[in-house]
Amino acid sequence: MLENNHKDMSVLSDDEFRMKFRNWLETTYPDEWKNPVVFRLHGAEETRWLRMLYDGGFRCPGWPRKYGGMGLGLRKQLIYHEELERIGAARNVDTGATLLGATIIRHGTDAQKQKYLPEVLNGDCLWCQGFSEPNAGSDLASLKTTAVLDGDEYVINGTKIWTTMAPFSHKIFLLARTDMNAPRPQQGISMLIVDDMKQEGMIVRSITNLNGEAEFAQVFFDDVRIPATNVIYKVNKGWDVAKAMLGDERIFIGSPSLANQTFTVLEELISQMGKETDELFKAEVAKAFCDLNDLRALFAQVCDAAIRGVADGKTYSTIKVQASETFKRISDTLINVAQEYGASVGHPDLDGFEKDILAFFLIARPSTIYGGASEVQKTIIARDIFGPLAKR
Ligand SMILES: Cc1cc2nc3c(=O)[nH]c(=O)nc-3n(C[C@H](O)[C@H](O)[C@H](O)COP(=O)(O)OP(=O)(O)OC[C@H]3O[C@@H](n4cnc5c(N)ncnc54)[C@H](O)[C@@H]3O)c2cc1C
Repeated sequence: MLENNHKDMSVLSDDEFRMKFRNWLETTYPDEWKNPVVFRLHGAEETRWLRMLYDGGFRCPGWPRKYGGMGLGLRKQLIYHEELERIGAARNVDTGATLLGATIIRHGTDAQKQKYLPEVLNGDCLWCQGFSEPNAGSDLASLKTTAVLDGDEYVINGTKIWTTMAPFSHKIFLLARTDMNAPRPQQGISMLIVDDMKQEGMIVRSITNLNGEAEFAQVFFDDVRIPATNVIYKVNKGWDVAKAMLGDERIFIGSPSLANQTFTVLEELISQMGKETDELFKAEVAKAFCDLNDLRALFAQVCDAAIRGVADGKTYSTIKVQASETFKRISDTLINVAQEYGASVGHPDLDGFEKDILAFFLIARPSTIYGGASEVQKTIIARDIFGPLAKR
């Protein structure tokens, strides 16, 4: 039984919903998990937090209620994320809910819904996304991992890289080539599920990120066998599903929350340094403030377009570029303004200031790469405006 048995919160007014979630968060969210002390929860802690949301009736805001979600419209989903940000909740990658679950709901078989959705909802199962390969990132269609049908099983061989949270995940969904003779690279790719990251033939080699956390990994598949029923949607049609998935990811990455948080730290730092009246510092803050407000306005516009169902590919690409580049610029300002403190690891030696400013700078670096690199997004925007770009 997948149905959500909690009270239907989609019928509340936006304000009622906001206050209900806010009150719950204020009494439930543990102080030790508040950022910027913790940017993300990992493994058992993430499972614990997802379980708390589930028990409180606040899990999977965008999923329909008949699949156990909250059944909220986009406006209330935005309120949901605003309230998480307000309390300073650590950001969850939560690929199981936002990418895998949403896709199973749209394209999965009944058996897949029964099997996978409950364990995503209650937090028991953490997922990772195996798309990128060492020679297939922006040019994802050139991926080389293969899945060959052998009786009623697929046998997977190849490697994935930059797989976020792979060291903490129980399962992975991936793209692999199932028709080696397809005429175009985008054809002949399927989306598959490996049910156990520790099964025979799987190797997960952690990679430590700039911020010193072993959050992502290279994942190797050496004759990994999975049931033939572990294909999401249709065999050889994985590209269509992946494209829709990456669109979902881009609006999530387009939220101004990281830029916002960085700006708040910038303000605190300047006042801690006693530079509020210094003209140079004021100019830096004003520039960052305008930048942030541009992003907030654009995000509101994109959300509005999404709510009205008129957001297209270029809209998502634009917000992805704007959010990640603004975050990066404000984190640069933070380091510049910090002067000698900007070079210290951990929080700077300033009385009462406990923010690790270097961590903001470091985690902002890859934001213009993951979820689609800026240069590639700009090409998508240009193509949408001018049509296919002429070859020289
Ligand atoms: C923190 C982080 C987390 C990630 N998590 C995941 C994950 O969970 N799962 C997953 O599958 N992948 C993940 N990725 C991988 C990510 O999707 C790729 O890094 C991204 O698609 C870029 O691919 P690449 O690294 O191979 O770089 P490349 O595609 O080789 O790009 C290198 C540079 O060349 C530029 N470039 C490439 N093509 C063009 C072009 N046509 N025109 C102009 N410039 C171009 C790019 O913009 C970039 O600056 C993650 C990456 C990072 C950094």
